[in-house]
Amino acid sequence: MPQATLGYAAQAADSPLASFSFERRDPGATDVQIEILYCGVCHSDLHTARNEWKGTTFPCVPGHEIVGKVTAVGKDVKSFKVGALAGVGCLVDSCRACASCKEGLENYCDVGGMVFTYNSPDKHMPGKLTYGGYSNRIVVDERFTLHVSEKLDLKGVGPLMCAGITTYSPLRHWKVGKGQKVGIVGLGGLGHMGVKFAHAFGAHTVLFTTSPGKAEDAKKLGAEEVVISKNADEMKKQAGSFDFILNTVAASHNLDPFLACLKRDGTMVLVGAPEHPHPSPTVTNLIFQRRSIAGSLIGGLPETQEMLDFCAAHGITADVEVIPMAKINEAYDRMLKGDVKYRFVIDMATLA
Ligand code: NAP
Ligand code: ZN
Ligand code: ZN
Repeated sequence: MPQATLGYAAQAADSPLASFSFERRDPGATDVQIEILYCGVCHSDLHTARNEWKGTTFPCVPGHEIVGKVTAVGKDVKSFKVGALAGVGCLVDSCRACASCKEGLENYCDVGGMVFTYNSPDKHMPGKLTYGGYSNRIVVDERFTLHVSEKLDLKGVGPLMCAGITTYSPLRHWKVGKGQKVGIVGLGGLGHMGVKFAHAFGAHTVLFTTSPGKAEDAKKLGAEEVVISKNADEMKKQAGSFDFILNTVAASHNLDPFLACLKRDGTMVLVGAPEHPHPSPTVTNLIFQRRSIAGSLIGGLPETQEMLDFCAAHGITADVEVIPMAKINEAYDRMLKGDVKYRFVIDMATLA
């Protein structure tokens, strides 16, 4: 018996999100059913709801920063019990058989078998799409369900499922740590987690921002320095001094001033996924100092659990503004203006 579920959906790219009823599957043998308590609001939700990446099928229920309580488990579920806390991020399944999946890098599944938490064909309900966390419950295979510590304030844990892992993973992969100068570009949901992690890993952390008003907060979050990226003189002073830069900006922009800040052999990793492409960077900026531009996509399930355990051990959560479900459209508009400190999180008890 599929279960009646309440959520919020976009019915079209240009229509505001509104109340929407749909069905979830009953938990199967390896499934965990979660009552969603909080769901973070990622800029990817907005890109998808407004079809900025051109791949959205409507209606679309966004949300992939999910935390809640387990309300039922299938008979073969081993590590979750009813009443436990659980999290769900951007993925709810993958092919599970390719080399990347076997390595726990389901986010880079070799055959493109990732099933995203929303807007992906649903393997369990043929002909239907997956619906995300702007809803009162979700059913997810145990393998794609995360353990959440009781120690952390749950409101700030949801955003770790996407903003957290998307910044943690490249900082770990490129071995950011002590003795390095590391830049984070953009102080939004991803950026503020990037600042926290880079600081926690011991790097000299510098925030690049277009918003001078965020400088004080950035320092409280762990940045040693703040550079206003629109100020060419300030940018020039940073030339050739960075080991690594993580660029989280959600809009198309000129990459050259940031590349010029890298040392020889430095790397800038792009995680922001803007609607329109960045202008091509100048090749000489790359070749003269053997600099690299790279990209990174969320993180696999084992690393996401590692990140959550790291956060529990170090008391790290997102800085959030909790909103009722009905304020989601206003929250999207504020996010576009950079007016969010530093992640909106929906209190699912307000869903009606
Ligand atoms: P967000 O909260 O809106 O933050 C983006 C920040 O970028 C803003 O706060 C702002 O920071 C800066 N910014 C925005 N517009 C800008 C502009 N025109 N020029 C310069 N800076 C600008 O968004 P988010 O949720 O962190 O997501 C950021 C991007 O990452 C989105 O494109 C999202 O889809 C993508 N994403 C990628 C992955 C992945 O796996 N790679 C995962 C999640 C999200 P300042 O005010 O400090 O300048
Ligand atoms: Zn996201
Ligand atoms: Zn795979």
